[in-house]
Amino acid sequence: MQRSTSQRWLERAQVVTPGGVNSPVRAFRAVGGHPVFFTSGRGPYVTDVDGNTYVDLVGQWGPALLGHAHPAVVEAVQRAAASGLGFGAPHPNEVELAELITERVGPVEQVRLVNSGTEATMSAIRVARGFTGRDAIVKFAGCYHGHSDGLLASAGSGVATLGLPDSAGVTADQTAQTLVLPYNDLAAVAEALEQHEVAAVITEAVPANMGVVPPAPGFSQGLADLCAQHGTLLISDEVMTGFRVSPAGWFGIEGIPADLYTYGKVIGGGLPVAAFGGRADVMQMLAPQGPVYQAGTLSGNPVATAAGLAMLRNADYPGVDAAADAVVSMTHEALDRAGVAHTVQRAGSLFSVFFRDEPVTDYEQAQQQDTRAFAVFHAAMLDAGVSLPPSAFEAWFVSSAHDESALEVVARALPAAAEAAARSGEESR
Ligand SMILES: *Cc1c(COP(=O)(O)O)cnc(C)c1O
Repeated sequence: MQRSTSQRWLERAQVVTPGGVNSPVRAFRAVGGHPVFFTSGRGPYVTDVDGNTYVDLVGQWGPALLGHAHPAVVEAVQRAAASGLGFGAPHPNEVELAELITERVGPVEQVRLVNSGTEATMSAIRVARGFTGRDAIVKFAGCYHGHSDGLLASAGSGVATLGLPDSAGVTADQTAQTLVLPYNDLAAVAEALEQHEVAAVITEAVPANMGVVPPAPGFSQGLADLCAQHGTLLISDEVMTGFRVSPAGWFGIEGIPADLYTYGKVIGGGLPVAAFGGRADVMQMLAPQGPVYQAGTLSGNPVATAAGLAMLRNADYPGVDAAADAVVSMTHEALDRAGVAHTVQRAGSLFSVFFRDEPVTDYEQAQQQDTRAFAVFHAAMLDAGVSLPPSAFEAWFVSSAHDESALEVVARALPAAAEAAARSGEESR
């Protein structure tokens, strides 16, 4: 498949933008090869600057629940844009989006809208600290909560060790109050909550940024119980799962209430909207009501919220689940037949493929997969017209627009890609 125009755009981009990209995973560093520049998308398909069309399994990293350019979303955006792009004043769309979220997710009594998942988690931590008067937070190794300083700590996965900065430019002070624990380890959480005054435990509702690692039976309930015992707030980060895996996100599937929730991705319908919300007594701490400051010039933007409302109102969850069923089973079958070590892990319609035989329950295990085999597999799929996330640690995203003919393209691409992955293993032995 010829991609010379993408190549030329990359060269131009690298001159004016670090690495040529505005978010690092897009650079394809984890899989080798070069990023593809896309210019259009329709339903399950995306088309690149060279005119090649692919079945898209990246899904804008989550938001594309209805596929690309769904008529209802496009129409809502066009109508909203024609009335003005924003006023820096309250707008009915913001109220409707907040009402929709609070109606669907019982434990969310009040919501504040922001522009990115990073802002949502950062602000949720701030309000949790303001409410509890405590400083420390707990996060789990391998969970991603955006790129704010205090949440970038994931190194030092030892029990209750103080987090070390994982990124240059983050000071030790900024992560000194972040305790990083192994996921699915309740004993470690119990110990941390006993030894420290912890404001909040933040967890992905289902970790899906180290590949998909579902909570072990009892883990989510155990977290909620421990937090309640210690006066620590539980923040369920549903930026990925929220309104993707069910009409009420992961809460709609597991049903275990948290104190605060964070949303993003799907709730903006593809435009920048995110939110944090939860118990009214906690949310009342926010300015102008309370002493915790938080603000945003573009927050609740009327065009972005119109897109989010249209997406949420038109979502087809059985359709997304069916597409996930199909891709999971055809991928598993092709890798099995080619003899490639793999495990497909799934939570609702969210899934990922680990290139190793044993199930993965935490970050340490996730890192033991064969990323080389994945890189070869990824390149072969791309050349056969299937765009997968360019990292073995990302979920694959389907939509309700992934119909028979799109799934057929994936089915035809899989056997040769699986064979190539199998051969890559032989070469490295
Ligand atoms: C994507 C993601 C974020 C960060 O959201 P941005 O909009 O990229 O800032 C936070 N938490 C989780 C679970 C995510 O998947």
